[in-house]
Amino acid sequence: MGFIMEYIMDGKKECTICGFKKTFSEFYLLMGGKFGRSPYCKECHSAKNVKWNREHPQVIRNGRQKYRRKHKLALNEKSRKYVKNLGVSYVKRMILAKYGIHPEDISQQMIDREREVIKLNRALKEKLYGNAKNTERTRA
Ligand SMILES: [Zn+2]
Repeated sequence: MGFIMEYIMDGKKECTICGFKKTFSEFYLLMGGKFGRSPYCKECHSAKNVKWNREHPQVIRNGRQKYRRKHKLALNEKSRKYVKNLGVSYVKRMILAKYGIHPEDISQQMIDREREVIKLNRALKEKLYGNAKNTERTRA
């Protein structure tokens, strides 16, 4: 009964790490926690994470590698499709690389035009070199 009163009274909770009484919004939600909140405040929570990350760099690295390995095919497939279909941000990147125009200054007309240019270049390359994308390019 006491904690419900406390909840109604001031809506604050004491952090088990720094010991400060803080409002509920300063604690992350946690199912099963007192008031449905984490026992320590957000500040202490992130400090704890930073400390843990610093002490376990290998775990972080492994996790990242695992994620990349797991999603590699999907990621590759996605970007391949994007390049093939000439998605807007891909074309914008090409315009930026070619003409140095900032993405914010690129108009729809420029995108449509560049898309046509890329298509023509691709068709031309295919005519010249055939469909030999995967074979090693001859060194000039
Ligand atoms: Zn705290």
